[in-house]
Amino acid sequence: MKYISTRGGVAPQSFEDVVLTGLAPDGGLFVPDELPRFSAEEIASWRELSYTQLALKIIAPFVDGAVPEKALKDLIDKSYEPFRHRAIAPLVQSGHNEWILELFHGPTLAFKDFALQFLGHLLDYLLERRGQKAVIMGATSGDTGSAAIEGCRRCDNIDIFILHPHNRVSEVQRRQMTTVPGANIHNIALEGNFDDCQNMVKASFADQSFLPDDRQLVAVNSINWARIMAQIVYYFWAALSVGGPQRPVAFSVPTGNFGDIFAGYLARKMGLPVAQLVIATNANDILHRCISANDHSRRELVHSLSPSMDIMVSSNFERLLFDLYGRDGKAIARLMDAFRQNGDFRLDESALAAARQLFASHRIDDERTVAVIAEEFERSEYLLDPHTAIGLEAGRRCRRDAATPMICLATAHPAKFPEAVQKAGHAGAPPLPHHMADLFEREERFQVLPDDLREVQAFMAGHLST
Ligand SMILES: *Cc1c(COP(=O)(O)O)cnc(C)c1O
Repeated sequence: MKYISTRGGVAPQSFEDVVLTGLAPDGGLFVPDELPRFSAEEIASWRELSYTQLALKIIAPFVDGAVPEKALKDLIDKSYEPFRHRAIAPLVQSGHNEWILELFHGPTLAFKDFALQFLGHLLDYLLERRGQKAVIMGATSGDTGSAAIEGCRRCDNIDIFILHPHNRVSEVQRRQMTTVPGANIHNIALEGNFDDCQNMVKASFADQSFLPDDRQLVAVNSINWARIMAQIVYYFWAALSVGGPQRPVAFSVPTGNFGDIFAGYLARKMGLPVAQLVIATNANDILHRCISANDHSRRELVHSLSPSMDIMVSSNFERLLFDLYGRDGKAIARLMDAFRQNGDFRLDESALAAARQLFASHRIDDERTVAVIAEEFERSEYLLDPHTAIGLEAGRRCRRDAATPMICLATAHPAKFPEAVQKAGHAGAPPLPHHMADLFEREERFQVLPDDLREVQAFMAGHLST
């Protein structure tokens, strides 16, 4: 299987190259030139498989021999071994034909563990085989950083540097990053805001001369193809659990960068009967405006109670646009150029109509988010995190029929977002799971650095493993 860029300016690449690069050199995102397709009979035959057995079925065709099957199986087993639930991704019924898919039983209590545990092991395996080392650099305002650090903590061939804005991430989120031991793990608290962190990462990717010749940067943000791929698995898993593929299902997905929900879109293209995908956004609603009113204009960032979805632009949306425009890379390059210049574009009517056949969208503000958390707790004593609350509510508002199961993705554990939970009327913070109960006593390690590219790069060059 070959991978092509959404902007059409790159020769087809192998899986290995795509995983080790992240962004395509023409500025586009990598997608497979052709997807594997599974028949209903084949999908139905997977009903008895465990999560990791199912993951192997779905991931193997994308990897296409780049990792031998036995080694791939080991990587998958290692990735999901630390999850604290036997089912890995359990379903909980939350209403009539309505389900919550709990994706927060991984080491950092958010769905990003599904992809980043696997990506860490995969990168380490590929680098070991090549006799190379690589450097992961990323900026985070929350979940990505901790999940990436947990994913790389046992990787001998990777040094990881995660930048967060000093004093501007929640204490739980900071501690989840800074208390992970390991000589290859480096947390940098930058004296700046999240944009400053991101600009520093972008500048470093653009000019990597501060690193020795034998090291390159690898991107592990949600544009990395392997992350999307690993997320496809739980759509199949959940559908199989509620009667798929004989019965179509709908999903509601709390969405920021469109990585998670794009995996659901791919699952459908691979043969899973998915009747509807609901894009659930907070006040940062560029995707909701685009689907509902053809308004894809960049607006100011709003700091919400669901911070992991606080984005101005949704990077993975380009992958959907590529399909909506008949996989015409030139058309996407033009659209993205226009967006860079004007902060705005409108979709062709035919593209919009095609999107609306499958996607619905809703925006839920902070006030409603808090009310949903309170209502659900009142009704069933089930405590939602704010992102999941948005997904649940948007699913209810957009649902087309009661006969189709609606599966709402629970992207985080409520203990990660105590502010929203307390606003919903809970005295005190929701307790952390037992294995993390001592998080606030663990020793922290991080380096405060000024918002200065040279200083950050000098720090990184001075802390590489040999
Ligand atoms: C990252 C994240 C999201 C958004 O996921 P995307 O793939 O960016 O759409 C939603 N909820 C939580 C808790 C997250 O960490």
